[in-house]
Amino acid sequence: MSDNKKVKFSNIRALFPEDKWDVGFLTKEQLQICAYSPIKGKPQQYGADFTNNIHFLSLTNSIVLVRHSPDSWDYTNYKEADDILEGSSLNDWFPIYTNYKVATILSGLGVRAKNSLIHSYKFGFDMKIFVVGFDDEITPPSQPTDVDLNYWKKCDGCPDCRVACPVGAIHNEDEPYWLDSSKCDDFIGFGDHPKVPSIKKFWHKYVYPEVPQEIVDKMQSHMELERELSFDTKGYSLDMQVGVLKDGKPVPVPFCRECQVQPRCSKWNGDYPYDPV
Ligand code: SF4
Ligand code: SF4
Repeated sequence: MSDNKKVKFSNIRALFPEDKWDVGFLTKEQLQICAYSPIKGKPQQYGADFTNNIHFLSLTNSIVLVRHSPDSWDYTNYKEADDILEGSSLNDWFPIYTNYKVATILSGLGVRAKNSLIHSYKFGFDMKIFVVGFDDEITPPSQPTDVDLNYWKKCDGCPDCRVACPVGAIHNEDEPYWLDSSKCDDFIGFGDHPKVPSIKKFWHKYVYPEVPQEIVDKMQSHMELERELSFDTKGYSLDMQVGVLKDGKPVPVPFCRECQVQPRCSKWNGDYPYDPV
């Protein structure tokens, strides 16, 4: 443990190149709010667990890192953040797993959109979020943080993501807004849409092409499968902290982004260029 040193937020922010990162600050109390905001699941848990519990040891002030990242399933940036901090003179920091959406809002780096995601002020939907805790006290940013707890104004009266979702998972016409995560997750994993890729399509083409198409066609839902798709042959492996690896190196696996690419809120003008599978 440290002897109660102080670290300037501006010195931490300066470590992260501005074209790739946005950096925000969370007080201890704000981290507590994040920890008390439930999350649905923990597929990419990394760091000290500040989720879905009542008592948390070592609640501390922290930073929120938003990394520009165009690939949906690529968590290599956790290590990139670690490497930057390890190469600095900072001590007594540790990665934190918490409700990253709430952390981004409370640190003033983004706003809640009606597709259920966070829209980063700097990178839109093309980003990943991390939180890093510090035992040392962080001297807060000189400018007060502008926190917007409302839905993003651009979403007012916009039906585009709801209409574009191939499985009708987005319910944002009338409050309470909600996302059918089961439908979404099954489509991302096992969708057979002619235009929108899925993890199953990638898996069949590259990892298990010997599985007959009629068997693959029947694979539709996580609930119906005894196990997830296996990435365990032909040099492929699965690391839940990173994504799919080929010969130890991350490979992008394209899947649905229809709710993040509509003309009103993205640079893709509604026509996202999925990698061919
Ligand atoms: S399409 Fe974009 S702007 Fe429209 S409601 Fe959905 S997230 Fe908001
Ligand atoms: S990722 Fe695809 S399936 Fe999931 S909510 Fe968005 S549009 Fe719908």
